[in-house]
Formats: sequence, structure tokens, C-alpha cells
Amino acid sequence: MYLQKTIRTKVNCHGIGLHTGRKVRMSIAPAPVDQGVIFVRKDMNGNNTIKAELTNVSDTTLATTLGTNGTTVSTVEHLLSAFSGMGISNATVEIDSFEIPIMDGSALPFVDILKNIGFAFQDKPRNFMVIEKPISVSDGEGEAMFVPSPEFTITYDIDFNHPVVKKQSFHMTFSNDVYEREICAARTFGFLRDVEYLQARGLALGGSLKNAVVLDDEKVINKEGLRCSDEFVKHKVLDAIGDLYLLGMPIIGHFIAYKSGHKLNNLLLRELLVRKDCWRIVQYSIGDQQEEAVDPSMHAFWANVASVR
Ligand code: ZN
Repeated sequence: MYLQKTIRTKVNCHGIGLHTGRKVRMSIAPAPVDQGVIFVRKDMNGNNTIKAELTNVSDTTLATTLGTNGTTVSTVEHLLSAFSGMGISNATVEIDSFEIPIMDGSALPFVDILKNIGFAFQDKPRNFMVIEKPISVSDGEGEAMFVPSPEFTITYDIDFNHPVVKKQSFHMTFSNDVYEREICAARTFGFLRDVEYLQARGLALGGSLKNAVVLDDEKVINKEGLRCSDEFVKHKVLDAIGDLYLLGMPIIGHFIAYKSGHKLNNLLLRELLVRKDCWRIVQYSIGDQQEEAVDPSMHAFWANVASVR
């Protein structure tokens, strides 16, 4: 079977919070089967846990924030993206602040931490959501949709009225390798005028050239430049992979986004939960002895996921 996965042992790290600019200590620990990802606010007493799931998303302005019963955890998407990229199903994340450290603005530091610790397969199969009918949502010019596909594929298009960003498009068939090679190092980006506006209002105080690509009206102002010419669209893919993780299981289908973001990604997932005719949940067998149990249309998908076992 394609099994649930956690990390091997507990690991500690720290970084600064994007909003406060203050140091945040974080630990990531193994968790039992079927738990999913749970955040624990160590700076709060009682009622301090919150699960990484769609129904707990309380805000999608600038970042994805989880919130319920007075407990919030902000900027979860890059860490969740790393969990998704590495195929992690279960983990417990403890932090001593309301926000996940921003690190270098990408998911690469989290991927490095997780890979260093190593993974442990668990003795229960993982669920997958198979998209069976197209479903889409839109918001102004933005659009996000799922259509059926034998594999998890992503097509993302952005179109910014800026001479460096402009139109960028990226297509990928998801696998741990492609995520690690193409996506996880893409940093978040912002425009200098927005950064100045936010910081004048006491927001994004931790935001700097160390954790974001910043653009003035003409160019990237970071001395080191871009990590790749399409870093902008790749970061949007990184964000979307983190947002989709809130569904609680990997998707088998094609995610197509045009000018989307956290808000629209979240809207699509909420629509998906309502439209139960558009999907089914499955588990898959793997290996010679269970070959017959695998839907033939899934072979392309398995060619990609087999390497993670
Ligand atoms: Zn991001």
C-alpha cells in the first residue's frame, strides 16, 4: 500500500516572524497515523492546538492563517508546502509565537530540515482524492480549477504589470523530486511600495531582502538577483501546494490557476468539499502481488510516486 509517512525524530529550529520581526522557536515532531498536521502554540496556556485543515482557515490576506477559538497560526503555507513536497502525512509543530518563521522566504530550509531528520513510513494506507469532474471558481480576473487527470499536475499562470515579472507560466507533474528540484527554493516576492506601506502600519516588520525578492518599479533590488528567471510563478506554485495540503490528502487531478492566490485557492477547496459529485477518495495498492488492485489509469501516477517508498 502507499502508506502514511511522518518524520523519524523531533527537530528544533528557529527563525524570525514575518509580521513581528521577532525570533520564533519551532519544533517538528513525529505524529501518529491519521493525525495530520497539528500546530501547538507553546506561548499559550490551554486551548492552544489547531489542526492544519481547510475548515480552520481564518484569513488569506498576504498569507494563509489558521484560526479557531482564539488560537491562530499565521504564514503556514511554506511549511505545509514542504510537508506536501516531501509526502509527509502526520507531524506535530510546536511554536512559541502566532506565526511560522519565514526563514529565507521559500520552503527550502524546511525541506533541508525534514530531509536531514529522515522519514518513517507508518502502517496505514494514505487516502487520495481523485478529481472526477471539472470544478472551478473565479474572483475578478483570477481563476482556479481542478480537472480530472491520472496524475497530480499543476499549471499556473501569472500576469503582473511589471517589467521583470510580466507573464510567467509553469507546468509540472508533481513528484517529490520535481518539487525539490524546481519549486522549494522559490522565494516569496513583494513590491517595495507595498512593503513600505505595510511596515508604516506596523505589519511585515520582519520582511527584508533576506526573506523576500523585492521589486521597485523597474527591477529586483536584491543584490543576489533571482534564483531562476521564473522564480515568481514557481513561488506561486509553492504557495498553492501548501494551500492544497489543507485538504488533508493528496489530489489526483490537474490544478489549473490563472492569477490565483491564497484566497482563490481556498475558495476552490471549499467549493470542492461541497461538490461531492466531483471527487472520490481512494487508497492504492503497490507492488507485484497487488498489481490487479491498481486502476490501470494510475500507472503514470505510480511511476512518479513509487520512488518515495
Ligand atoms: Zn508564499
